[in-house]
Amino acid sequence: MTLSFDLTAEGARDALRARSAPAEKPSLIGLTRAELGAVLVEAGIVPERQARMRAQQLWHWMYVRGVSDFAHMFNISKESRAELDRHFTVARPEIVEEQISSDGTRKWLFRFPPRGAGRPVEIETVYIPEEGRGTLCISSQVGCTLTCSFCHTGTQKLVRNLTTEEILAQLLTARDRLGDFPDRDTPDGAIVPAEGRKVSNIVMMGMGEPLYNFEAVKKALLIASDGDGLSLSKRRITLSTSGVVPEIARTGEEIGVMLAISLHATNDDLRDLLVPINKKYPLKELIAACRAYPGLSNARRITFEYVMLKDVNDSLDDAKALVKLLKGIPAKINLIPFNPWPGTNYQCSDWETIEKFADYINNAGYASPIRTPRGRDILAACGQLKSESERMRKADRLALEAMMIAGHGEA
Ligand code: SAH
Ligand code: SF4
Repeated sequence: MTLSFDLTAEGARDALRARSAPAEKPSLIGLTRAELGAVLVEAGIVPERQARMRAQQLWHWMYVRGVSDFAHMFNISKESRAELDRHFTVARPEIVEEQISSDGTRKWLFRFPPRGAGRPVEIETVYIPEEGRGTLCISSQVGCTLTCSFCHTGTQKLVRNLTTEEILAQLLTARDRLGDFPDRDTPDGAIVPAEGRKVSNIVMMGMGEPLYNFEAVKKALLIASDGDGLSLSKRRITLSTSGVVPEIARTGEEIGVMLAISLHATNDDLRDLLVPINKKYPLKELIAACRAYPGLSNARRITFEYVMLKDVNDSLDDAKALVKLLKGIPAKINLIPFNPWPGTNYQCSDWETIEKFADYINNAGYASPIRTPRGRDILAACGQLKSESERMRKADRLALEAMMIAGHGEA
């Protein structure tokens, strides 16, 4: 059974609409503490000497309590709240749709303002609850400038970087909708981990190449892992890259999160075809950057993602080459069954082939989980969506969702 809330329906969206941000007011979400203090002073809301204290107060309301309306910030005077509301917003983005699968997988379609890209953009965020953890799959860009030949996102035209605010908004809104802030109730019947946080892990495995939006992603992940705020452990945050080598060391040094590499091939000829950024940063450089990844250890292993493409990269020789290539690197290998999309020439490997491949990798000492398909029913249900010209095309959405659900981490 699928539960689908079309939030475009009259009435269903009223509550959300009330808190949607009018486009003209700048958001306070996504600023560093110093920036937060500075904008408050600049707007004449607080004197310089109070800036730090007030920034800290707002930080707590935004990131610990998850408040999306200044009116609920009770330890701030009524006058100051009104002043804040006159200049700024802490509201959530527009949720176009929320869908809930019978296995508890949820997805949200968000609409963000154009910010120069011509028209509003839409992105999806997916939540996958499992025993003991709940993983949120977050996007970093609308579309992707890279053109991996098996990935449908790479064929999408509209590309812009998401802002820090938009990256964080995906996490904040998911936590809202799951009742994952203090004093909030989890919705009736929601499937969430039995204990602890509902969103316990995040993976940057949605749309886009996070390392091509480095500064915004860095800022968002540092806010997400800030101990006085959202407080997610960096070991529970995984960033997936197709291999933007110059930014890999920086990811470890400046962000300090877990790394996943979209490897998919073990030789340059094939990887040039599958992941064309390989022509710029070939395997030798990529593997060297992995070996040197700051903080790498057996307790903090790199995840190598490997999409299983029939008769392309799925032979036993490929499995052997993979083990050889990764020798000496503390690694996990995630085998991802290929999700076909309209127009693709690739096919998913047979199940038997995937199992043989996985067995070889397991025997070589790697845990190699094959990602189980989740949320299949909500993928199907997408076909029933109303189409509007500004909506993401159905085929684009199906391919993206399949990828995000398959791509959820084993971090
Ligand atoms: N751009 C980043 C992160 C997002 S992609 C990256 O490439 O790493 C998340 C994972 O899904 C990547 O490993 C990507 O290669 C994989 N993927 C993309 N399209 C896919 C498809 N059609 N089927 C299965 N996995 C896919
Ligand atoms: Fe972009 Fe990642 Fe898709 Fe490649 S696999 S086109 S890097 S989103």
